[in-house]
Amino acid sequence: MFLSALVFGVTFPLPRKGSLAQYTSFNQTKRRLGRRLSLYMSHLMNTYARLPVAFTHGEGVWLWDGSGKRYLDALSGIAVNTLGHAHPRFTAALAAQIGKLIHTSNIYQVPEQEQLADKLCALSKMQEVFLCNSGCEANEAAIKLARLYGHNKGIDNPSIIVMEKAFHGRTLATLSATGNRKVQAGFEPLVKGFVRVPYDDLDAIRQVAEHNADVVAVLVEPIQGEGGIRMLDIHYLEQLRQICNQHNWLLMLDEVQCGIGRTGKWFAHQHTGILPDVMTLAKGLGSGVPVGACLAAGKAAGTFQPGNHGSTFGGNPLASVAALTTLNILEQDALLANAAMVGNFLVQGLHERLDQVAGVIAIRGQGLMIGIELNRPCGELVKLALAQGLLINVTADSVIRLLPSLVFTQAEAQQLLDMLCPLVADFLRRGA
Ligand SMILES: *Cc1c(COP(=O)(O)O)cnc(C)c1O
Repeated sequence: MFLSALVFGVTFPLPRKGSLAQYTSFNQTKRRLGRRLSLYMSHLMNTYARLPVAFTHGEGVWLWDGSGKRYLDALSGIAVNTLGHAHPRFTAALAAQIGKLIHTSNIYQVPEQEQLADKLCALSKMQEVFLCNSGCEANEAAIKLARLYGHNKGIDNPSIIVMEKAFHGRTLATLSATGNRKVQAGFEPLVKGFVRVPYDDLDAIRQVAEHNADVVAVLVEPIQGEGGIRMLDIHYLEQLRQICNQHNWLLMLDEVQCGIGRTGKWFAHQHTGILPDVMTLAKGLGSGVPVGACLAAGKAAGTFQPGNHGSTFGGNPLASVAALTTLNILEQDALLANAAMVGNFLVQGLHERLDQVAGVIAIRGQGLMIGIELNRPCGELVKLALAQGLLINVTADSVIRLLPSLVFTQAEAQQLLDMLCPLVADFLRRGA
């Protein structure tokens, strides 16, 4: 920062106390320089510390930048590109739909939306679906549904049990439900009506049940994504299902990241025998076309009536066809089995190559949702991997997160291991 100031012979406002790290980040420096020197400067709000790369096109699990450099995509736009990039049948289905209709309105019947709802309910055994455009919107719908369910039972101040390290989105209600102070700081007052307990701790939930008669629901991710690929004990959801039944609470699962085949089942909770009352989906549902869903069953079904909730774009013909085609291709090409197989191959390979490396704390995951926890912050690895042509992510400071698309082959997974493992081992050996 200081150097740039000298080189360009201009002065900069001094950083505010305590914000030095932020101030000197690549993007901020570029912005401030740009403002002073009238250079090119983005007019985007500064909400992302973006990596200095832009992609021009993709094919399968590969992306290319403007210079022709190729990248192996082990992140899929954060679990979004379920079918990889430029999938031929998906592209053709979207093109055909765009040529017919993109949007009408929820004022009218939308047959594509009804087909999608039928399909989602057939796969999940849920009963009804509200369609929206993102994960936070799906969770907003779930939170509103739980509150209405409570009011209908005569509970005036309904509250929802949520988890430490949870991530449910960035809108006011969902950031309030999120268990991460960084997401909440500066946006107080938070939305009331959430009670927080540690993840994977049934006793903590039983204690809340004893003291709080206003609870109407529990909201939990079957696998925490942003929280660091954290898993529940295999019996947790079954026991939580029983607790919810005893107290007439809704069991609400946020499967925005772990749903849509990623773990080797359509939905992560299907590794257990339980059925939730509410489930939310988004990320991978439309393979990149924005679409989210809030599903309800049992005592949660029928809660929303006309006028209670809505969305202008939600479930429009284009988004519905994107989701329906994603689900159909997953089925036709047996990609759930592929996710389980390639996921096992990756986890086994990671164990073989990294278990003996000092600094690797844990390798965990299910299907193609994989975390490698290190004993130190490792955000730097994202840039090192990028330089080598590999796209990964780090979450919860010290967990390398892999979310490959479900079309990954075993050969491509082998390439991923060959690129990633030496990088991680070197990083840890350097003692950074
Ligand atoms: C990403 C995510 C969300 C938020 O989804 P958006 O589409 O970004 O609003 C909610 N819950 C979970 C588990 C997520 O991973």
